[in-house]
Amino acid sequence: MLQTSPRLRDVTLIAPAHKAQPAPGLVVDRPFPGPALDQLDPFLMLDHFGPASIRPGDAGGLNPHPHRGFETVTIMLEGAMEHHDSQGNRGVIRPGGVQWMTAARGIVHAEYRGQELVRQGGTLHGIQLWVNLPGRYKMNPPGYQDLGPERIAQVPVTGGVVRAIAGEYRGVAGPASTFTPLAVFHVRLEAGGKAQIPVADRWNAGAYLIRGAVQANGRPLQERAMAVFADAGGDIEIAASAPSDVLVLAGQPIGEPVVSWGPFVMNTREEIMTAQRDYALGRMGSLPDRA
Ligand code: MN
Repeated sequence: MLQTSPRLRDVTLIAPAHKAQPAPGLVVDRPFPGPALDQLDPFLMLDHFGPASIRPGDAGGLNPHPHRGFETVTIMLEGAMEHHDSQGNRGVIRPGGVQWMTAARGIVHAEYRGQELVRQGGTLHGIQLWVNLPGRYKMNPPGYQDLGPERIAQVPVTGGVVRAIAGEYRGVAGPASTFTPLAVFHVRLEAGGKAQIPVADRWNAGAYLIRGAVQANGRPLQERAMAVFADAGGDIEIAASAPSDVLVLAGQPIGEPVVSWGPFVMNTREEIMTAQRDYALGRMGSLPDRA
């Protein structure tokens, strides 16, 4: 039998991360938004933090702050983060676990280092993604999905595993519920490992190398760089020459205007001004500062 191999998407762009400082004392690597890549609609931002050595007693994190108009997705690789929000949600994101928070019409939350990590010291390493919402969902009630490591779908591939956080890989669905069709896969490969990932036609798609050495559709990808693929259909193929972690993002573009100001992402300037006013008036809720 003659088998035709699926077509691979062309790599149109490689966006290396630049340093960004989302809050005082917090420096991250950010492949987008940046000079090379504005967004990967529906994905607005990718922040890669650590791996950082945390000394015992070294508390840190983000004090209460608001979000409106999109979702924040925190993927822990090592260490732990503790979450509190104005909806009364509270949780610890552990290694391999994911927190998918829908800010929608507004939430105030705090993101701290895990208490055990602060007590004992250790390594903190993870990713935070911002996922846009279409205008018709931006004023939905806020929500929260705590996806522990045991809930992430694991699909074996040659020399590794695809951990499906959202979207479907080879018929296995990740646990996250999303507002628009999209996929977030953590691909973990040994040297010589390979993963072939089909992507729906007209979806945007990219692959970010967290660590290791891979080729993405035949193009070498440096650590902390994002390969963006043409949207003409076809697969993504990640081939590792060293133990590697790759984050694959794919999604149906929303295709709406993006107007962002700090923690708010809306469609118009007027909606941003409304968000600023609503936050100031306490309409996104409140949360006390850490004692
Ligand atoms: Mn936040």
